[in-house]
Amino acid sequence: MPGTDLLMLKAFEPYFEILEAYSTKAKNYVNGYCTKYEPWQLIAWSVLWTLLIVWTYGFIFQPESLWSRFKKKFFKLVRKMPFVGKKIQSKLTEIKEDLGKHLQYLKVDKDYVKALPAQGLSTTAVLEKLKEYSATDGVWQEGKASGAVYSGEEKLTELLVQAYGTFAWSNPLHPDIFPGLRKLEAEIVRMACSLFNGGPDSCGCVTSGGTESILMACKAYRDLALEKGIKTPEIVAPVSAHAAFDKAARYFGMKMVRVPLNKMMEVDVRAMRRAISRNTAMLVCSAPQFPHGVIDPIPEVAKLAVKYKIPLHVDACLGGFLIVFMEKAGYPLEKPFDFRVKGVTSISADTHKYGYAPKGSSVVLYSDKKYRKYQFFISTDWPGGIYASPTIAGSRPGGIIAACWATLMHFGESGYVEATKQIIKTARFLRSELENIKGIFIFGNPQVSVISLGSHDFDIYRLSNLMTAKGWSLNQLQFPPSIHICITLVHTRKRVATQFLKDVRESVTQIMKNCKAKVTGMGAIYGMSQAIVDRDLVAEISSVYLDSLYSTDAVTQGSQMNGSPKPR
Ligand SMILES: *Cc1c(COP(=O)(O)O)cnc(C)c1O
Repeated sequence: MPGTDLLMLKAFEPYFEILEAYSTKAKNYVNGYCTKYEPWQLIAWSVLWTLLIVWTYGFIFQPESLWSRFKKKFFKLVRKMPFVGKKIQSKLTEIKEDLGKHLQYLKVDKDYVKALPAQGLSTTAVLEKLKEYSATDGVWQEGKASGAVYSGEEKLTELLVQAYGTFAWSNPLHPDIFPGLRKLEAEIVRMACSLFNGGPDSCGCVTSGGTESILMACKAYRDLALEKGIKTPEIVAPVSAHAAFDKAARYFGMKMVRVPLNKMMEVDVRAMRRAISRNTAMLVCSAPQFPHGVIDPIPEVAKLAVKYKIPLHVDACLGGFLIVFMEKAGYPLEKPFDFRVKGVTSISADTHKYGYAPKGSSVVLYSDKKYRKYQFFISTDWPGGIYASPTIAGSRPGGIIAACWATLMHFGESGYVEATKQIIKTARFLRSELENIKGIFIFGNPQVSVISLGSHDFDIYRLSNLMTAKGWSLNQLQFPPSIHICITLVHTRKRVATQFLKDVRESVTQIMKNCKAKVTGMGAIYGMSQAIVDRDLVAEISSVYLDSLYSTDAVTQGSQMNGSPKPR
């Protein structure tokens, strides 16, 4: 009522008077103080202070945290110091050379091709040469590689080759020229949406792999956040979420906020809530995460997503095409993970992992078209025409899409359920046996296909070294040190699993004879790299690896990489 409002104001009158008296006093004080200065001085000061405040704000709030930038600057200075700097540099060179020595794949026994052959080779000659090149990848065929190859079955290979052949020259960039290909792609997305229980508005895209699927989701949510007026959009993700999210953050100028895990290696939901700020563009969960094969508590995180109105991406790149079949395979998961969970707005799932399609395909799915819209790229003013492209690539290989579609159709639901049954059966068998080996332990509660091992008694990388010596190729993980095996169809032959257990048992027994022995070789490099505080140094060491991928300098068998490589 207006009457009472007036009364209220009256009640406050004495306070207003006091306030006015004070403000007059303050005004007089400031004015009196300012008479000492000329107007130009006051203006100059104001401008200067404003600029300083703006600069300070910009300096503090950047995609990379102040602390991280400070550390980098500090270590850069240390490396420039006269004595210490030299010492670090020589140690760095030593480590780089040491790493080079351990890169077995550089030891090739044929010279490199460095220029086009003057005359083209015949079909048979080319195929023969390719056979030579492929003769060196036997590890996965014996079932001794972790992950890497998810099916490898010969009959399937034949189908893929034919499917690729049928669409070898096609390109989804031109749907008018290849209308059938467009239909194949749309059907892959729809089948995937159905698997993850997407509603009628669910949609998605086929991408070149898990990384691109993740990049696309991050790009979409970044643009959505920018539209909301967020200047530096933040990705809030568990420390275990795939490095592709870091890649996205750096490519797209976002800030990465990593959330710690609980003892079960699941994301700590309370820490996740604390990590949410007004700049948060998206939340991330994995189903399962790569390091330990653990599924994050998606329903709990989804509640946060709904409460704070933030999109939630579920990274099911690795296990997507297992988890959707687990219930039918007789291994129901403890918690829901897909679009049935309110708050889950996007999912990435790799057809080229447990979808058993050849490498180069994955899907990114959205609960609603209103999110996918932000993923698209459209350039309206290019002289080459209005250019509209759904994902990162422009032209894309239609053959890969056809092969992916062929795999999905060939397996069908029954095929995937059966494959899932075999894989999970093997994983559960390995898990129960590994749990009983004294000296090692399993991280968290791996419900799917990855089992991660650690040890309280010895350096776990010693186990990895011994397993490598026995022909296995396992994954080395860090923070905390561990190794894992990712079980695929190639491991489902009983002989492979029992051989693995036998080799682990033998290795652990051998190691336990002298628990405190130091780790050597590649294991030592992994161990050391975790102890280095200056992560830029680690990055520099790692670049040796990336350079090596493109090396065409002959390294003869037994020779070493240090100094100038010996030409043959
Ligand atoms: C493999 C994987 C990815 C990335 O997939 P790529 O196909 O290698 O780009 C993302 N997330 C998880 C959990 C993965 O295992």
